[in-house]
Amino acid sequence: MTDYLAAARAVADEMCAVRREIHRHPELGNREFRTAAFIEDHLRRLGIETRRVTETAVVGTLTGGRPGRCAALRADMDALPLTEATGCAFASENPGVMHACGHDVHMAAVLGAARLLAGRRDTLPGSVIFLFQPDEEGYGGAERMIRAGCLDGVDAVFGAHVSSTIAAGRAGVRFGKFYAAANLFDVTVKGRSAHGAERENGVDALAAAAEMIPALIALPDSFPGERCVVTVGTITAGEPRVTELRPTVAQQRQPAPAGCQILSDSGLGAGVIVGKVTEFYTSHSLPHYLESLQKLLCYHQKFRP
Ligand SMILES: [Zn+2]
Repeated sequence: MTDYLAAARAVADEMCAVRREIHRHPELGNREFRTAAFIEDHLRRLGIETRRVTETAVVGTLTGGRPGRCAALRADMDALPLTEATGCAFASENPGVMHACGHDVHMAAVLGAARLLAGRRDTLPGSVIFLFQPDEEGYGGAERMIRAGCLDGVDAVFGAHVSSTIAAGRAGVRFGKFYAAANLFDVTVKGRSAHGAERENGVDALAAAAEMIPALIALPDSFPGERCVVTVGTITAGEPRVTELRPTVAQQRQPAPAGCQILSDSGLGAGVIVGKVTEFYTSHSLPHYLESLQKLLCYHQKFRP
C-alpha cells in the first residue's frame, strides 16, 4: 500500500514552488485566466485530461486502473483585492491583488494530490476529479460549476481551507456546517440638507449612519441560535444629502429564497433610508434579512423629517 504521506513529503519542495508561482500571479474572481491555464498545463503534464466547465473553472479527470467510485478534490482559485505588503520574495506581482486567503495553497495542494495519484493510476480504484473553482470570494463560483455538471457521477467531494489558527502539520475537522456564506447589501441613508446652525430643519444622514453601525453589529444578538455576523466594511460619508454603508451579513449558506428582491425596492419613501440588496445570491433566510432591515428602519424613524 502506498505511503502517501511519505510520497507527499518527497514532492513538498516542488509543490511549495508551485504555490509560490501561483502566489506571484493572483487573479480576482472569474478572471482567473492565467491561473486556469497554469493548472491545465500542470494537469496535462501529469497525463490528466482537463476541461473548462465555465470560463475559468478547470476540471481534471483521472481514471484509475481498477473499478471503483468517484471522488472529487476541490480547490478555489481566486485572490482578494488587497495590496500585498509582506515583502516576501514571492510577493504578488499583480498590484492590488493578493492571495491573502490561501487559495494558492489550496491549488498547490490539489495539484500535489493529482501528482501523487496520477503516478499510481494503474492501481487506483475508481476515478478522481480535480475541481478548480473560480470566484469563491464572490458569488456563485461553485454553483455555476455544479450547474455545468462538474459533480455528475461524483460520489464524494473533499475540500479544505488553510487556517492561520492551526499549526502547520495539523488539521482540524468538524461535523456539520463550517464556514459561513456572505451576503452583501448597501444601505443608502438619505438626509435633508439644512444650515448647520439649523439642524432642526434638516435630517442628519451622517448622524443616522453613525448610529446605525453599532445597531447593525448588534443585530445578530436578536437572533439567538443563529450563527450570523454583521460587519460594516465601508462607509462613505460627507457628501451633501447622502451617506452609504456597505455592510456584510455572514450567514450559514442555504438556498436563496424566492422573492428576495423585495428589499431592492422596499418603497419606504420619505427618503430617510433605503435598504438595497446588491447581490443576494445566497442567504440564510429572507425573514431574517427583512427583520434586520425592519429593525434598522424602525431605529431610524426618528430621523424622518
Ligand atoms: Zn478562502
